[in-house]
Amino acid sequence: MEKIYQELLEKAKKASLNTYSPYSNFPVGACVLYENNNEYLGCNVENVSYGLTLCAERNAISTAITNNEKTKIKAIAIYSPKQTKCMPCGACRQWLSEFASEQGCKIILEDNNDGILILNLEEIFPSGFKFEK
Ligand SMILES: [Zn+2]
Repeated sequence: MEKIYQELLEKAKKASLNTYSPYSNFPVGACVLYENNNEYLGCNVENVSYGLTLCAERNAISTAITNNEKTKIKAIAIYSPKQTKCMPCGACRQWLSEFASEQGCKIILEDNNDGILILNLEEIFPSGFKFEK
């Protein structure tokens, strides 16, 4: 399993090369893995009006939806050349919780010394907003 996560991280790394981040100069790439093993890439897309910036994680999930993905997310790798352990922001954690697999969603990050850090969405986002009818 660790090999799959390493490959996901490599794909996130490649996606970070395509970023549009002239304002922050903080490129981020993401690769999201679904239950049916489909994968989708995303990178951050900034805007002169900073608040309109789209994160790599939400970009990857949007690409999945655009491609008619109907299964749930089992893992996402996130990478920035500027920072190891590049954690998802609060908005992206909420987005991930919307589409996370019932079996859980792994967050795959680059760790120090080229290692991989594997976290569970549950542990970094334990009480997300849920709409109860
Ligand atoms: Zn984000």
